[in-house]
Amino acid sequence: MSATGRERVPIESGYFSVPESDAEAPLLFGSRCKKCQETFFPRREVCASCLHRETTDVSIGPRGTLYTWTYLYVPLFNSQRADDGGYAVGQVDLPEGPRIQAVLRGGPDDFAIGMEMQLELETLRQDDEGRDVVVYRFRPRSEGGSE
Ligand SMILES: [Zn+2]
Repeated sequence: MSATGRERVPIESGYFSVPESDAEAPLLFGSRCKKCQETFFPRREVCASCLHRETTDVSIGPRGTLYTWTYLYVPLFNSQRADDGGYAVGQVDLPEGPRIQAVLRGGPDDFAIGMEMQLELETLRQDDEGRDVVVYRFRPRSEGGSE
């Protein structure tokens, strides 16, 4: 349940968790190789590093470090934000190992390489059953603030 009181569902299952409360951070669903311990996102059955065929499901996140980013001055195709003049895309290094590409929340002046990032969910739209359809994003992590 989100602050809106609506149930939340992921845009696609198997990639990230949707906590009951939006005060709780989501986690990404990854895999860890049982042989070399390399961690991957999204999940995979065969290790991309050593080709071992046994992996364990692991939850990764919700924090990372911004490796690089760019800002695109075009609206995000699936956004409902009225003020949408663009969006940022970045690569975030997770402490568990993977570097993942994701849409970032914030304006063109909000990012710096090396800054701490926080995983969160954004509502894209409501589905036919009135549920919030959510996707994961990263935003700059601030102490004590929500933005
Ligand atoms: Zn491996």
